[in-house]
Amino acid sequence: MPIFEFQCEECGEVFEELVLGNKIDGVKCKKCKGSKVHKLISQVAFKAGGKFVSSSGSSCGSCSGGTCSSCK
Ligand SMILES: [Zn+2]
Repeated sequence: MPIFEFQCEECGEVFEELVLGNKIDGVKCKKCKGSKVHKLISQVAFKAGGKFVSSSGSSCGSCSGGTCSSCK
């Protein structure tokens, strides 16, 4: 189910809303009923995008990974 997190630009309220067909135009603040809301990036997507995967073991420091004589 496409549930997104929104923040109201009027009062700053953060709330979750079920959105069907990407129709975020009809989303209104649950606190002040304001229509000036914007979609927040979900925490899951933020964590996955910011994750840096570092490889270890094959690189010796003088090459990009297992291609020089000191790696073998
Ligand atoms: Zn509001």
